[in-house]
Amino acid sequence: MDDLLAFVRAQLDADVQVALAVFRSRVRADGSKIMSIDPPGFPDLPVAEVIDTPTAEHIARWSGQRVLAEVEAKRRILDLHIGAHDCTEIHTGVYPDDWPADAGWGKAGERWAHAANEHFEADQPCPTVRLLAQPYAGRDGWREEWRA
Ligand SMILES: [Zn+2]
Repeated sequence: MDDLLAFVRAQLDADVQVALAVFRSRVRADGSKIMSIDPPGFPDLPVAEVIDTPTAEHIARWSGQRVLAEVEAKRRILDLHIGAHDCTEIHTGVYPDDWPADAGWGKAGERWAHAANEHFEADQPCPTVRLLAQPYAGRDGWREEWRA
């Protein structure tokens, strides 16, 4: 679990560095104002490149400010999952073909999902931390055993 926590924290740190680099690049950019992402302390910075509206919207939604807020929220979620703790696990399956029609729930061939609180020891990656790691799958240090 410590390795997974360290891996996710390192990825979040990298996200922050990239977000801060965007801030810095916008400070250096000159040219006419096309859109403003307004990073903290640098309102109404010009951007030097013409981009289409969907791309501009995407960039605005994933501005440095947004990335920093996402990283902070994820760091706080990680803090809630350190050491031995109880965490929610989702179990899924399919009702078997011979599932009785009069069982009162479910239907043969239908998917089911059940959430249950389970205890995870400090060395067991819980589902929440594994899920937080998924966007970083395949990066240096990633382990397939962390795939959720
Ligand atoms: Zn957890």
